[in-house]
Amino acid sequence: MRGFLTASTTAIKYKGLLATTRTTSPSTLYIFQRNMSESSKTKSESEWRAVLNKEQFRILRQKGTEPAGSGKYDKFHEEGVYSCAGCGTPLYKSTTKFNSGCGWPAFFDAIPGAVARHTDSSFGMQRTEITCTACGGHLGHVFKGEGFNTPTDERYCVNSVSLTFKDESK
Ligand SMILES: [Zn+2]
Repeated sequence: MRGFLTASTTAIKYKGLLATTRTTSPSTLYIFQRNMSESSKTKSESEWRAVLNKEQFRILRQKGTEPAGSGKYDKFHEEGVYSCAGCGTPLYKSTTKFNSGCGWPAFFDAIPGAVARHTDSSFGMQRTEITCTACGGHLGHVFKGEGFNTPTDERYCVNSVSLTFKDESK
């Protein structure tokens, strides 16, 4: 296992070098950036198990979903900032939170650069998964064009478990 990890890290580093010297294609650049973040913030599975509770691990690291209507931030409307429960990076401001009635916290926009998008074809659906850019933790999905009366017509549907809220005045 250790040998495999070392080999794959070397391969990624090699591609990263190519990105700086030969090409700036988005996919190669992504691998390079990913390698940069891996060296700073990404933990191993056992390290994540040590710092997250069971439900946080299931959702953030195993792409789980909390039951609709169960989350502590679903009907929560204080003013402040929502950060990643895994690494503490600020992700959403309360000024972009809205009541979607879907059973999970909903935001129409994220803090620029904080949230990454990925195509998710699981369960026979085409969805867009959202993760914390810094640590890769699973947040939920983002949906577009649902007709909500918001500036973006997007709904970031986020698990409460993936978030920690901080009152801005404190
Ligand atoms: Zn994070």
